[in-house]
Amino acid sequence: MGTGTENSQVEQSSESVDLNDSCAVSPADKNFPTSLKLPQLQNVEALFFDCDDTLYPPSCKVAEQVRKNIQKYMNEKLQIPLDKVVELQQSLFEQYGTTLRGLQLLYEVDPFEYWSYIHWSLDYKSLIKRDTSLRNILQSLPLKKFLFTNADKTHAQKCLQALDIPEEIFDDIIDVVAVRFKNKPDFDSFSTALAIANVDEPSKALLFDDSVRNLRAAKNLGWRVVGVGRTSKEGVDFCDAWIPSLHYLPYILPL
Ligand SMILES: [Mg+2]
Repeated sequence: MGTGTENSQVEQSSESVDLNDSCAVSPADKNFPTSLKLPQLQNVEALFFDCDDTLYPPSCKVAEQVRKNIQKYMNEKLQIPLDKVVELQQSLFEQYGTTLRGLQLLYEVDPFEYWSYIHWSLDYKSLIKRDTSLRNILQSLPLKKFLFTNADKTHAQKCLQALDIPEEIFDDIIDVVAVRFKNKPDFDSFSTALAIANVDEPSKALLFDDSVRNLRAAKNLGWRVVGVGRTSKEGVDFCDAWIPSLHYLPYILPL
């Protein structure tokens, strides 16, 4: 995958579910283990949210569209034979964190031309539905909030517009340009994000992300981490907590 949209579900809202809201909102799961409540967060100064497959669920199928666009780009623009594209994309993603990073190093790809091809052509509003319950939840959190994505800022803004979540809810959008293309899970990305957020210790940062490798890297650096898009702790037992979607935030935050 080329950007923040990775491989990655259960969604819940409050009791009244607006079917036009979000892509996969289902009624609240009464069995959600509330023992997952995070310990006191007095020490936490800033919340960092991944964008793709975290702010909206994988069922929106943005990743699928982006993957197709990347493969088309690699074939049409870089003349890579179709039968080699899938394998190369996967190996670049695994080696470099994003396909783009690999393509920049190996093919000197211009990131803005790449994003205009693979991202900005997406029909965001048909893929991602508005999510007023998430907007209300985010607005209620009395901490600094940052969108921290391996994608570009324009893509993140378009996702927010489709969700109908004002960009101003976030103190800043930390995109792949802001981290000088040393994207998650590169350790540098996390120290750059802390510097931008003016947070002086990793333990004062809390990351919400669907990517296990991003979560693990952050955790290894001393961040506190919450796995998003998880209905069990399988594969994310190293996390401080896990949730099916960000709609479960009120269940785990001691606010
Ligand atoms: Mg993601």
